[in-house]
Amino acid sequence: MKNTKQRELILSELRKLKTHPTAEEFHKILKKKDNNIGLCTIYRNLESFYEQGLIGKINTKPAKYDGDLSSHSHIRCISCGKIHDIFFSVPINKVEIEKLGYKLQGYKIEINGLCSSCAKTKKRREKNV
Ligand SMILES: [Zn+2]
Ligand SMILES: [Zn+2]
Repeated sequence: MKNTKQRELILSELRKLKTHPTAEEFHKILKKKDNNIGLCTIYRNLESFYEQGLIGKINTKPAKYDGDLSSHSHIRCISCGKIHDIFFSVPINKVEIEKLGYKLQGYKIEINGLCSSCAKTKKRREKNV
């Protein structure tokens, strides 16, 4: 019974987030709602939700989880690893893909950038040197 409740909590809380937390970051958030929830439980459930196709996963190290299954891409900060969703579509050259002998099934693009707070820190550091 307790396990079912925690499963539901994990799934519903992840779906509310836009931040793509790692299991550990997510543990900190969930502990505020359920003090008895363990990191192992969270990790195990996130992996099983991912296998069932209920959530997304970004293969960073450690992996980040995504509660939003709608079709979107990610921009990742190369400095702090923060991830933002982007919902504009990136043009894909289908002809080039077909030339390689593939039929396009879908795509996920990860864009790298420097987020505004890292850009500020970097500027400050450069000034101080
Ligand atoms: Zn950053
Ligand atoms: Zn996302």
